[in-house]
Amino acid sequence: MKVIGLIGGMSWESSAEYYRLINEYTKEKLSGWHSSRCMLYSLDFAEIEKWQDENDWVKLTAILIDAARKLEAGGAECILICTNTMHKTADEIQKAISIPLIHIVDVTGEEIRAKGLRTVGLLGTKYTMEDGFYTGRLSEKYGLEVLIPDKLDKEVVHNVIYNELCLGKTRQASKEKFRTIISKLEKRGARGIILGCTEIPLLIKQEDLKIPVFDTTRIHAKAGVDFALQ
Ligand code: GLU
Repeated sequence: MKVIGLIGGMSWESSAEYYRLINEYTKEKLSGWHSSRCMLYSLDFAEIEKWQDENDWVKLTAILIDAARKLEAGGAECILICTNTMHKTADEIQKAISIPLIHIVDVTGEEIRAKGLRTVGLLGTKYTMEDGFYTGRLSEKYGLEVLIPDKLDKEVVHNVIYNELCLGKTRQASKEKFRTIISKLEKRGARGIILGCTEIPLLIKQEDLKIPVFDTTRIHAKAGVDFALQ
């Protein structure tokens, strides 16, 4: 079994989910007492959020490269960045290490394609929804049409992520807001919805919706285990 390197703490609420999921998948595949061989390098999210807010992606890239290199030096055999947003720096990180980085957009794009969907909605932080690194990769590599909420709804989603979910709060009112936003995307043609922020599955799950849900935390964690066990 290969060692999975996790860059986490963004936020730790979702990193805890990654840890649970990779162990559950490992046990499911190998049974018994098996658990994942993994290393977590957990960052201070207050620092990350500050540089995001200042739009200093050079600084953020340097912080994540440092984490990835430390994991590689410690014996990690692949890297998972446990956040969609910080995949904005993924190409630079991959260039700075010699182990594979398992890209959250690629494994999500593959799963959407395997389900035969062409048009999907995307919920995530404003960086994920607006900055092109995410929607561009899904359309260029996977031929998908990706719909994002309108301006006001984007703000709602972004604020719920930072002010509630990343602080460990899940509110029924926010869940209802997300359902409304998702149904608007569905009316515009979305046939599935990407939960493109690793904390969103803490708020909303497949059983809350009728259309297929692509839970990026689950998809990414599973891809890490598949790599470790191949
Ligand atoms: N975990 C979140 C994501 O998947 C947001 C926090 C962050 O900015 O990294 O995008």
